[in-house]
Amino acid sequence: MANTVIQLTLEEIQKMKEHYQSCLSEKIPPGGIFSAKKNGCTITAYRSGKVLFQGAGHAAEALQWGSPATKQKKPTVSGSSSGMPLPEQIGSMSVIGSDEVGKGDYFGPLIVAAAYVKKDQIPLLKELGVKDSKHLTDVQISTIAKDLITFLPYSLLKLDNPKYNQLQASGMTQGKMTAILHNEVHYRLLEKISPEKPDAILVDQFAKAPVYYQYLKGQKIIQKEKIYFSTKAESIHVAVAAASILSRYAFVRAFDKLSQQAGFTIPKGAGPLVDQAAARLISEKGLETLKSFTKFHFANTEKAKNIAKLR
Ligand code: MG
Repeated sequence: MANTVIQLTLEEIQKMKEHYQSCLSEKIPPGGIFSAKKNGCTITAYRSGKVLFQGAGHAAEALQWGSPATKQKKPTVSGSSSGMPLPEQIGSMSVIGSDEVGKGDYFGPLIVAAAYVKKDQIPLLKELGVKDSKHLTDVQISTIAKDLITFLPYSLLKLDNPKYNQLQASGMTQGKMTAILHNEVHYRLLEKISPEKPDAILVDQFAKAPVYYQYLKGQKIIQKEKIYFSTKAESIHVAVAAASILSRYAFVRAFDKLSQQAGFTIPKGAGPLVDQAAARLISEKGLETLKSFTKFHFANTEKAKNIAKLR
């Protein structure tokens, strides 16, 4: 939906609220101060000082309060390696986005989330600070995620370490697990929003499309013709960024839980700190315990065993 965004002080927003007193809405979005509807134009003011004018006459309505904030740069739409090029307007469509977390972390689960963002919700999500989760702190992620789950349709699956290790030992690759989880969250989210249908499904590419479909052999695949793959997809559509925030939020909570079980802070990643923490677990609880904390097939296991021996 066409919109104008301006930046004001909280004092100015207070004045504005008085001005729109007669047409205030009861529903205020997360992070909002007030929302009003005047002659088909929805005005929403946020605690960040941003005011969003959406719908009929948005530019004129905004103009009496200030000049528009600098327009956000449009992300460049990069090619998809599925062989299916991304639709040119994908950034402004109603999209299910999906992303995973935990593939490269020795400790903790593998988590995949999908989120559905309708085109008219895109400005709101941007306003809430939804962007690539790599640029957000754990605290920011938790704040934004808690907002998102109050209104955004999503689906999230967490493959805990015992199950992960069991599948891995039975010969399943991590890539295949990831693909199955993406496919499954798409399926579940489509069910959730049905009869509504997204314009597209965008996967933050972890494998090229032919490999993805190879992984999914034997699985029921949904809407193959509408699924697109792209690297850095979180900057192409905010639905992928939302999915990445939701999965990372669940990941952070999983680490809190693991740390509680271990009795000390469990580190992320797969570096030397991780080897040390795993060695400590071996010393204190035994090697088998690692199977409920780690991705046991990672090289970190051998390194940790060696460190534990030296202790
Ligand atoms: Mg990703």
